[in-house]
Amino acid sequence: MNDYRGACHCGSIQVSLQSTNGPGALGARDCDCSFCRLHGASWTSDPNGQLEISTSADVHRYQFGSKSSDFLICRECGVVPAVVGEVAGRLFGVVNVNCMDAAAEMLKVRQILDFEEEQVEDRLARRARIWSPARVRISGL
Ligand SMILES: [Zn+2]
Repeated sequence: MNDYRGACHCGSIQVSLQSTNGPGALGARDCDCSFCRLHGASWTSDPNGQLEISTSADVHRYQFGSKSSDFLICRECGVVPAVVGEVAGRLFGVVNVNCMDAAAEMLKVRQILDFEEEQVEDRLARRARIWSPARVRISGL
């Protein structure tokens, strides 16, 4: 099992993605939405892995569009290391490849995806299929 680590710029949001996949098999998915383009964000996940996010309580949760997911934005440095969203009562998430220690290797296998036309129910089904089961741990105030 690989434990891929990453963090925002100041380190107050830490992410850990456990996966049996190598970094190239995880790859990097550029989302073509306006928010992701503005941040230059590229995402990865493993549906058979586990995503752990550790953050302080004052993390900013940004929602837009269908409001079905939370972009976790660091209030200190402005970086977005992860997105989480619930599907049928379970939490799933993706990590921002650019925040990961293994970014260079993940970015070698890169695709650009456009979800603009996707309906909300298809979006939730896709997340349950592709995103990683996730847990957000809130550390001290
Ligand atoms: Zn930060």
